[in-house]
Amino acid sequence: MSNFFYKMRCGMERFMYGRNGTDQLNIALLVLYVALCLLQWIVVMLLPYPLVSGIFSGLLLATVLVLFFRIFSRNLEKRRRENARFLNWYQPRQHAFSAWRFRMRDRDHKYFKCRACGARCRVPRGKGRIEITCPRCGGKIQGKS
Ligand SMILES: [Zn+2]
Repeated sequence: MSNFFYKMRCGMERFMYGRNGTDQLNIALLVLYVALCLLQWIVVMLLPYPLVSGIFSGLLLATVLVLFFRIFSRNLEKRRRENARFLNWYQPRQHAFSAWRFRMRDRDHKYFKCRACGARCRVPRGKGRIEITCPRCGGKIQGKS
């Protein structure tokens, strides 16, 4: 039996050789697919019309087709460029989100955003009304800490 699985694995590896396989964009497409499934479940419950479920079926099918096309594609150069474009879009958002989560968890400081240059300034909480000088551009920020 283990010989069977070994042969399966070798066959899979040979089949996938020179193909794109899994990259970050494909993982994102998979997440999108699962999210669409959940969303469909909720929306169809609220709006039980054939058109609504038809739109969702179309979107789900399109997502799966793009996903499979990208997994088995042999045009690695093009798939790599797509993935890079996706990461260019995604990574700044991911960083902004984790920075936001960090600020939310930080109970000891309050964060102000400089209106002139967008820099974030951190001050200890509980100091009352204060005026901060932006360390980047020297602009004044007023706020309650
Ligand atoms: Zn500033």
